[in-house]
Amino acid sequence: MHAVIIGAGITGALAAHELLLRGVEVTILEARSKGSGSSSRSAACIRQQWSTPATVRAMRYAMRSYDRFLEEFGCSADVIEPVVHNGYLFLHKDGAAWAAARERVAMQQAHGLSDVEALEPGALAERFPRVDASILQGATFCPSDGFLRPDVVYMEGFRRVAELGGTLLQNWRVMSGLHDAAGRLTAVVSDDGREAAGDVFINATNAWAPRLSQRLGGVELPIAPLKRYLYFVHRAGVEASEMVDWPMTITPSRAYCRPENPDQLLAGWAHATDPKPEFDWSDQDLIEPPFFHKTGLDNFGFQLWMELAEAMPAIGEFGGIEATTAGFYAVTPDHNPILGFDPKQPALLHAAGFSGHGAMLGPFTAKAIAAMAIAERTLESVVVEDEEIDVRAMLVGREFGHAEGMVI
Ligand SMILES: Cc1cc2nc3c(=O)[nH]c(=O)nc-3n(C[C@H](O)[C@H](O)[C@H](O)COP(=O)(O)OP(=O)(O)OC[C@H]3O[C@@H](n4cnc5c(N)ncnc54)[C@H](O)[C@@H]3O)c2cc1C
Repeated sequence: MHAVIIGAGITGALAAHELLLRGVEVTILEARSKGSGSSSRSAACIRQQWSTPATVRAMRYAMRSYDRFLEEFGCSADVIEPVVHNGYLFLHKDGAAWAAARERVAMQQAHGLSDVEALEPGALAERFPRVDASILQGATFCPSDGFLRPDVVYMEGFRRVAELGGTLLQNWRVMSGLHDAAGRLTAVVSDDGREAAGDVFINATNAWAPRLSQRLGGVELPIAPLKRYLYFVHRAGVEASEMVDWPMTITPSRAYCRPENPDQLLAGWAHATDPKPEFDWSDQDLIEPPFFHKTGLDNFGFQLWMELAEAMPAIGEFGGIEATTAGFYAVTPDHNPILGFDPKQPALLHAAGFSGHGAMLGPFTAKAIAAMAIAERTLESVVVEDEEIDVRAMLVGREFGHAEGMVI
């Protein structure tokens, strides 16, 4: 079997690796260079605190997999660990939200996440003195959650893919497909007329995935490219040695921050925005004036900074925002990804629509996609380390009835 993967981000790298381990020939086609999409623009946080058993279990696998990454990918001694286990702290102000959060903790524990806990305000204040627990009902905390170094994942991922015999072709933009007499996709064609034939074509282009699907004869994918901004806030009044240990912290309004390095907090917050279905690569880094940290005092970054300061007053004394970056989420109606063979085009396998959590889901996505490619059909469950995980809520063509409630 020859798999042609389109898109060289985290999904493409990890899926290629998984397929090569199973003896599949792999070619990856990338329009620009590896990491040209969201994978290099990500907050890259990773958590196992989710609202559905399948996602909890899938993310537990992803975490275990990332913890083994350096060894599994044969990395040299100078490569840093791709996971930083600072934990994830969800703050709750509202009584109903707090009751639901405690129920989720019980569900998560029942599905193997043994270190997640619900903290009442007293325990919260003791464990996390920088948080203003007096305005909160409580928080949930999981110390094994944290964040990723995404560049390590895709750079080392593609290095290992090459060692295993995979071929990465960059500056290879897929524009159309060739089909046999029965209408089955047999090859893809680049913008300058090159052709790449294969048995299965994996759409790992995330926010570009709807366009690619249409070009290759697939269905219309319900994936909305939505702009998301990140801000880098300079530390002041708090020692670097303290701040680097702060957990990823999510306020009741889902503004979030985590340490990026000893001197900067990385912060983000979803805002209402229209999808940009025809966005171009350069649009990813375009910072609209109301979102630029140097635009006036009421820019979005400043509002985010103040929102974080309400939950953690020390942040209000920080030195200021030093940078704004941006990228696109690929958002589905229920925030679950879209995995599986295209209902119209049987040689096209989608692995896209990861909303705000494709970096963390990567190892599980790779397992699911490799299993489906080899089975040559969409599977309703995937076995990882002897554990069967139901993926019906992630499949292409599903009803969007059960939204993942824990999205930021
Ligand atoms: C601001 C921000 C914060 C985020 N925070 C988190 C987080 O905390 N945790 C988390 O897990 N996720 C987060 N995400 C989401 C995460 O980054 C993505 O889900 C993930 O990186 C998707 O990886 P991918 O490989 O599927 O896609 P991408 O990295 O987007 O790669 C797709 C690739 O396809 C290529 N491509 C497109 N069209 C074509 C074509 N026609 N031919 C060939 N190649 C093509 C592109 O150039 C690109 O390199 C965040 C995203 C953003 C923007």
